[in-house]
Amino acid sequence: MKASPVHIVFGNDALADHEQVVFVSDKPTGLKAIIAIHSTALGPAMGGTRMWAYDSEAAALRDVLNLARGMTYKNALADSGFGGGKAVILADRAVGKPPTLLRAFARHVDRLAGRFITAEDVGISLADVEEMRKETRHVRGIAEGRAGDPSPHTAFGVYRGIAAALEHRLGRRKLRGLSVCVQGLGHVGMALAELLHDAGAELVVSDIRQAAVTEACERFGATAITSEAAHAAECDVYAPCALGGVLNEHTIPEIRAGIVAGAANNQLGNARDGDRLRDCGILYAPDYVINAGGVISISHEGPDFDMGFMRRDVARIGETLSHIFQRAEREDRTTSNVADAIAEEKIRSAHRRAASA
Ligand code: NAD
Repeated sequence: MKASPVHIVFGNDALADHEQVVFVSDKPTGLKAIIAIHSTALGPAMGGTRMWAYDSEAAALRDVLNLARGMTYKNALADSGFGGGKAVILADRAVGKPPTLLRAFARHVDRLAGRFITAEDVGISLADVEEMRKETRHVRGIAEGRAGDPSPHTAFGVYRGIAAALEHRLGRRKLRGLSVCVQGLGHVGMALAELLHDAGAELVVSDIRQAAVTEACERFGATAITSEAAHAAECDVYAPCALGGVLNEHTIPEIRAGIVAGAANNQLGNARDGDRLRDCGILYAPDYVINAGGVISISHEGPDFDMGFMRRDVARIGETLSHIFQRAEREDRTTSNVADAIAEEKIRSAHRRAASA
């Protein structure tokens, strides 16, 4: 009997879903990296480079493929003019992160001739990106012509997203007299808390760093809540701004807020949790749509950078979400499902345009 073939590449759905996956190794520096270009239908693939000590090569590959695909959807909904990609460098304590390794990686990015543009991510700092810049111009997040730290822009996008959710759910955009629970007071969460406070919202806050909680209580008159109880806070909006996976079969039944709208990535434990939220009557702002302010700010980088234009683009996150909320209601689908469908429609029509050109 003939053995069935082993489909390790084109028969592997996760891999075959990507336009190009590049495995990079550089013996002199010990570099091992994977660059995944998911789609360039809407423009060059843009996504950060993550450096992480993965348990296995399979885990690194899984991560980069998921992240690259996510960037395609995020860039599509943000109308950033970019496609989706991501890179991971497999961290190895014996090798460390010498400049020679970063530059070897950057040379591989350069060989892709602009099909992949990268920036900082977990484990890769702005200084590391500056080092890469010595070998390639296909990096973002460098000092010149940039919007600065993306976090305040992400916070502003979330703020506009919360206003859009309030309008859809309560028929009002004004935050005065409403309460928001901000879980995670880091770069984005603290900036969001400030915007919400300035707009008159009552704040409930949580963080595992007591100093951040104390700061928010003092500056914004916020009420503290433990991180375990934050999802169940009695408030109008729950804004997760810390970790992913916070919306799951255990937490969703305990959520009291009518709206979930926050910056954290990968908030849904799995795809069924989108249905769970809808079944509980909770309006969910899909994470990759509401938290795109940082990506939008990076997409504006360049010699003609204009802060006003960039802020206007970030503010449009509110309009995109309003459209998603309305369509989800009309078609009786989850908001995350509608967001994915819009991204896929944009990609399909780009393919059609390219085919007919
Ligand atoms: P950050 O590391 O600055 O802040 C995270 C905060 O969450 C920290 O203060 C941390 O102490 C706190 N935290 C960790 N575990 C917690 C818990 N169990 N309960 C309460 N607080 C907890 O990160 P950030 O840049 O503010 O990003 C926040 C989230 O938004 C992340 O999920 C990130 O991936 C996502 N995001 C950030 C940006 C950006 O521009 N920074 C853009 C898109 C998405």
